[in-house]
Amino acid sequence: MTFKELGIAEPILKALTQEGYENPTPIQEKSIPTLLKGKDLLGVAQTGTGKTAAFGIPILHHLYTNNSGLGKRKIKALVVTPTRELAIQIGESFTAYGKYTGIKNTVIFGGVKQGKQTDALRKGVEILVATPGRLLDLMNQGFISLKDLEYVVLDEADQMLDMGFIHDVKKIIAKLPAKRQSLFFSATMPKTIVELSKKILGDFEQVTIKPQQATAEKVEQAVYFVAKNNKVKLLVHLIETNDAKAVLVFSRTKHGANKIVKQLAKAEINAAAIHGNKSQTARQNALKDFKNGKLNVLVATDIAARGIDVDALSLVINYDLPNVPETYVHRIGRTGRADASGVALSFCDGEERAYLKDIQKLIKQTVPVIEEHPFVDDEPQEVKKPKNNNRPQRKGQSSSSRNKNRNNRNRNRNRNSSSKPKE
Ligand code: AMP
Repeated sequence: MTFKELGIAEPILKALTQEGYENPTPIQEKSIPTLLKGKDLLGVAQTGTGKTAAFGIPILHHLYTNNSGLGKRKIKALVVTPTRELAIQIGESFTAYGKYTGIKNTVIFGGVKQGKQTDALRKGVEILVATPGRLLDLMNQGFISLKDLEYVVLDEADQMLDMGFIHDVKKIIAKLPAKRQSLFFSATMPKTIVELSKKILGDFEQVTIKPQQATAEKVEQAVYFVAKNNKVKLLVHLIETNDAKAVLVFSRTKHGANKIVKQLAKAEINAAAIHGNKSQTARQNALKDFKNGKLNVLVATDIAARGIDVDALSLVINYDLPNVPETYVHRIGRTGRADASGVALSFCDGEERAYLKDIQKLIKQTVPVIEEHPFVDDEPQEVKKPKNNNRPQRKGQSSSSRNKNRNNRNRNRNRNSSSKPKE
């Protein structure tokens, strides 16, 4: 299957060739024909599968083929996405795929002054990519009219739900014209998402690219059992012994991310952190340096890293294991994007073994354990209760008896309790 066979307009084909896209990815092959027919779509796929082009190409195709070229540009397509980094990346993709179409896009997000964003809106765009808070804000201030809207995309819907954006999303949806094409993308399909999509989407088609197929099977994974106080040493050791050019390190907390950067600096490893407390400029600069190879190590929290698309990213290190298993799939999906293969290494201390079990259950794989390394923690003496966590405290269990004990775990710990982050 080629993009030409899907019937995509010539200027878009030309841009795709320049991007080096030879064939559609599975999500594109499945979604594009449905979307070209004008149907609503529920796409189950994560970033890294080519999701942006799966919705971006048909939107550009429709706008290009129906463009009268007359009058002021009106917002015809809206993409709502949870984080600014993701919004920027989607905007860049529209710019790349649409560069021969004359169709304009702009990106709006919170945490920065609105002046430049409102200037771009005043000049006029057909495609608007936005995070929910700033979108509602500018809509309420009268800078954005969605009355001509024809396409709406909700991207990373599960994440928006987790991040407490769902009320904003519902408010936005309520202001859209009833006649529109709706595209809904989510990496996972918790019940809440299924219910929401039934409410928001009309007669929709569902396209599923399973995460296991897309990510967990493609990425080479391994876990290191290591005591918490040895994690930094292990990290330094791995960075020094691995020849990966770009290493993305995940930290569960912002404070933790800063601390890791400081400790790496002591070992003369140049790293930067990105998280919600960093200014937008600092985040963008760190990401830019990381993308163009000036910075080898980027330490990120989950929200900041969501959707980061770095071509050469070959190694992801989970410094902390996430307590929500789906997050693990998102994290390791930062490497092994499109057709590339990648490596994801996880550190697991005594407190995190239950998280590892949840992850393995979700991905239906056992993550191989690296038995030999300088900081092995083969018999953690005490499993302490992590902060903010309901998991019961378990003392002095051997790892084998812990493996048998699958009870007493609060599966969805913290899942919906995360407070709304800054956009
Ligand atoms: P996404 O899931 O949209 O974040 O895309 C993941 C990565 O795959 C990005 O680097 C895209 O540029 C790349 N990509 C998307 N579609 C294709 C394609 N058909 N062929 C090659 N690379 C692609």
